Amino acid sequence: MVQPQPQGGKEQIYQCKECGFKYQEKAWAEKCQAWCSEHKSCNLEIIQHAVQAEEV
Ligand SMILES: [Zn+2]
Repeated sequence: MVQPQPQGGKEQIYQCKECGFKYQEKAWAEKCQAWCSEHKSCNLEIIQHAVQAEEV
């Protein structure tokens, strides 16, 4: 499952456990994780929806 990351009052961020990309939309995080676990690679169509990592 995709795990929500607490962001201190901001909107929920969902992270793909396979590749570590973060998404504001759970649907994209789930797509990413499904793709990553199946293909063992990243899908550019999906990761372009990832949020930029400001601080980790
Ligand atoms: Zn991923």
